[in-house]
Amino acid sequence: MQAWTHRLDDYDEERLNGVFAGHQEFLLQGLSPGDTVLVKPNILQEANPERALTTDPRFIHAFVRFLLAHDLRVIVGDIPGNYVPNERLAADFGLEEYAHDERVTVCHLDQYGFRPVYLEHSKSPRPITLPNVLWRSRALFNLPKAKTHSLTLVTGAVKNLFGLTPKAERAGLHMIPSGDEFARCLLDLHAALPVPERIVLDGILGMEGEGPSAGKPRHLRAVIIADDPVLVDWAMCRMMAIDWQLTPLSRVVPVPDSKLVIGDLTPIQPPFRRPRSYLGGAAVGIAATFQRLAGASNRPLPMVDTSTCIRCGICAERCPTGAIKLLPYPQFDRSICVLCYCCHEMCPQQAIVLRHTLHR
Ligand code: SF4
Ligand code: SF4
Repeated sequence: MQAWTHRLDDYDEERLNGVFAGHQEFLLQGLSPGDTVLVKPNILQEANPERALTTDPRFIHAFVRFLLAHDLRVIVGDIPGNYVPNERLAADFGLEEYAHDERVTVCHLDQYGFRPVYLEHSKSPRPITLPNVLWRSRALFNLPKAKTHSLTLVTGAVKNLFGLTPKAERAGLHMIPSGDEFARCLLDLHAALPVPERIVLDGILGMEGEGPSAGKPRHLRAVIIADDPVLVDWAMCRMMAIDWQLTPLSRVVPVPDSKLVIGDLTPIQPPFRRPRSYLGGAAVGIAATFQRLAGASNRPLPMVDTSTCIRCGICAERCPTGAIKLLPYPQFDRSICVLCYCCHEMCPQQAIVLRHTLHR
């Protein structure tokens, strides 16, 4: 287990290539010319790169170019929460110039189908399903984006693996009520991978505040290269100046040894703003006590900001329990809302806000 951090001010392709080339031996370990590898960026939905919602297309382009320079064949794909038409995928990945290059396949990963995976020492009792394309690849290159997250506090390397799961199963996983249990499921995905995983995190422009989709872009100037997603997320938290102990992941895995990270880990000042709705650590304990005493929930409710809502209906489509009706703006049936925050995550207008209220 090992991680390296680098500081980059922008997405200059030559400087990015210099970082990747500096870790060539580590990144390409076990691979031979002609091998096929899978690159999995974080493409939650289509968005201008300046919003920092997705792995930056310039970052993806530079990394694919690096792989091609070593005679690898590359599949680049994701299963975006909000569907992206096939004809726009290459542009969203920054790979238009490779659209007709037989060495590069740009795709939705679900087109290959899925298979269940049995894991002997799973952390969660939930079943694991992964895309078949992993079995056609010799390695997985996980290219996450550094962001805050309303449900998991941060989203980096561990959470990006969630994008490998079938959309039909995500609803069930999103309905898991506890952050710890969700973290266990995510860690199982990493453990169940049939190929070695290498992580190359895009933290040059990150997102703070109401992530993963409604936050504000902010320069973190970080690239992290590693073989362990927990180590990456821990280093990312340190650089964002977010307390690791507040994350659900920290309650499932021990604090990584900082000696495993080589490079500058200086926390940014002021710290990355946390989602207003996220309660972690001691706050969770206090709120849970309050919840028990008052019979109230300590989790925020999704609400609609009608000044920005365009009534597109995506939130209602994505809600796993059918708790949203457009009348004509979204109305929430609180009796069946499971507080998964898919609506908040998928709204293209950031019109679903999360608010703490005294509710049962
Ligand atoms: S809240 Fe967002 S996703 Fe829902 S209808 Fe309004 S704009 Fe669309
Ligand atoms: S209303 Fe939003 S938070 Fe509630 S279940 Fe539906 S998608 Fe999840």
